[in-house]
Amino acid sequence: MSVPDDPRRAPPRPATQAVHGGAGPGEPTGAVTTPVYRTSTHRFATADDMLAAARGERPGFYTRYGGPNFRVVEQKHALLHGAEDSVLFGSGMAAVAAVLQSFVATGQRVVALRDVYGGTRDLLGFLGRQSGLVTTWVPTGDLAALERALPGARLLWAESPTNPMLRVLDLPALCAAARRHGVLVALDATFAGPALQRPLLHGVDLVMESATKSLGGHSDLLAGLVCGRAAHVATLRTTRKLLGGISDPETAWLLERSLKTLHARVERQAASALELARRLAADRRVVRVLHPLLPSHPDHEVARRTGLSGCGVLTVAVGGGLARARAVAERLRLVSHAASLGGVESLVSLPVLTSHAMFTPAERAEAGIGDDLLRLSVGLEDVEDLWADLAGALDATP
Ligand code: PLP
Repeated sequence: MSVPDDPRRAPPRPATQAVHGGAGPGEPTGAVTTPVYRTSTHRFATADDMLAAARGERPGFYTRYGGPNFRVVEQKHALLHGAEDSVLFGSGMAAVAAVLQSFVATGQRVVALRDVYGGTRDLLGFLGRQSGLVTTWVPTGDLAALERALPGARLLWAESPTNPMLRVLDLPALCAAARRHGVLVALDATFAGPALQRPLLHGVDLVMESATKSLGGHSDLLAGLVCGRAAHVATLRTTRKLLGGISDPETAWLLERSLKTLHARVERQAASALELARRLAADRRVVRVLHPLLPSHPDHEVARRTGLSGCGVLTVAVGGGLARARAVAERLRLVSHAASLGGVESLVSLPVLTSHAMFTPAERAEAGIGDDLLRLSVGLEDVEDLWADLAGALDATP
């Protein structure tokens, strides 16, 4: 199903594209949703037809190469980001790996900003040992250090907003620096996503997202997506075919369904997160609150300038070290103590025991990650119930 292309009308806005965008196959029964094409292969009338499909000149061949349920998700994702094309993977990590393996050859160098997801950091180390990929780490937000690291590099890997400090990158400045040195920019935008920010508009070449988070939104699937220019996406699609990192039709169908409600979910989650952040910032039971839309956040101005309209995650320093952070997390009733984010149910985690457990104390101190931090991913519960849960847990753990 696709949005009618009528030149007299304004182009459909993103929330409309999320519902109707993506050219699903013509459905003879008139079903308003895409059927699940649970098939591992497709039948052809002639050898020529089959050859054309194998070459990618017509859709449908063998499901590791792609298929209708993947395609509709990819088309929606591309429309939401204003990209030429997008490609779906079986997980966020499969997407990260495909970008690194597609665009960085043995011995070539990646510049990575320090505050990236722990899995990405481990993968860069793994590829360094396995295939001679070289990584130069640069402190997040240090444009002078970035400028020094870029000459001769192939790819810049960055993340925004970051986990758990919710640093927001100055994307136009970062991309201008990369362009001066002919370096490709890949951004992990998992913490915001297309309903809250569109990084391609600021010069990013490739946007990667763990669709396991807010794109999927219901904590019931694993997937990853990368969008950008058609030629880059075609390269990634070849990598996916060769390494087999595709998703499956049923998961893609679930993801398509989730994308239709993306804006309604994410806008409400971001509004609740900001409300909780404001209340906590004025509350003496905690020490510090980080949310990019609070004026007290160090990157608040950058967030406004780069069109970040919200964030469903907030980070709170509760004071009292790990013991109190732990006690508060364990005392919460409505908010589940679990890794991940972006789902309809609110989750809390302790970065020092989860995402940053492998960091040395010195590395954590450098990144500003204290033992007393709680990362809260805000779901779709009523904000007053969430507040009552948080207030109750803070009261019970003085
Ligand atoms: N990038 C970020 C920012 C993440 O938070 C995660 C997972 O937590 C990933 C990438 C990896 O995604 P997945 O778990 O879907 O492989």
